Amino acid sequence: MKPAYYLLTAIFLVTALVAVWTVTAANSPYRFTEYEAGFDEAESIPETNISLEPELLAIQDWQRPEGPLRVGLQVGHWQNEEVPEELEGLKKNAGGAQGGGKYEWEVMLNIATLAAEQLAQYGIEVDVLPTTVPPNYYADAFVALHADGNLDQYVSGFKIAHPRRDYSGLSAELEAIMYEQYEAATGFRRDSNVTRRMRGYYAFNWRRYDHAIHPMTPAIILETGFLTSPADRKILINNPQVAVEGIVQAVLEFLKVD
Ligand SMILES: [Zn+2]
Repeated sequence: MKPAYYLLTAIFLVTALVAVWTVTAANSPYRFTEYEAGFDEAESIPETNISLEPELLAIQDWQRPEGPLRVGLQVGHWQNEEVPEELEGLKKNAGGAQGGGKYEWEVMLNIATLAAEQLAQYGIEVDVLPTTVPPNYYADAFVALHADGNLDQYVSGFKIAHPRRDYSGLSAELEAIMYEQYEAATGFRRDSNVTRRMRGYYAFNWRRYDHAIHPMTPAIILETGFLTSPADRKILINNPQVAVEGIVQAVLEFLKVD
């Protein structure tokens, strides 16, 4: 056979392999933040210039409810089977990502419970919330806790997003503080793959759902790491106190509690 034939065959094979790899990676059911039900398609409304939206005018005289500081820690996928009709689409997703013999909700419930115990020591009221958030839920900080998954066990790291539409004006600050504190505590790398779907997380979407946060609730979603990564599991499952430390310190700093 001629050398040109070998060259063409080689080019064809490489192209085919790249194509297969791309399609497989893109459709991986473990690629949580891209394909998990409940991460709504990003809305077409711009993120800025919200100042004249009717919803904002309606809440411009809003006052924070009286009472102690309140924090909502949502456990991703916990009690997923009990969602109301408007969140029926979430049922597809069962317990979330899996790794180390555990479901995402189990790992996140452990971390949320430990964090809630620590925050309570500062006089903060903490709600550990399941998949379904109470209607129009207000807190001084809302943190949705999830863990990611990937077919490649070497994919690791954490990432954070705040709502696309943030009337509190504080969610970006909460996100920035959490990035610093969670990184400092865990040593995890920052995964830059924050998607539009993360920012359109259903619990942020009070326009579409009753069971969502109040528009004035500062909120973030924290993908704490990859359950499919043995390295990340060393902390998330084997030494969760390390992750808890980062979360607690971030919330305390954000709320200016000493
Ligand atoms: Zn999740």
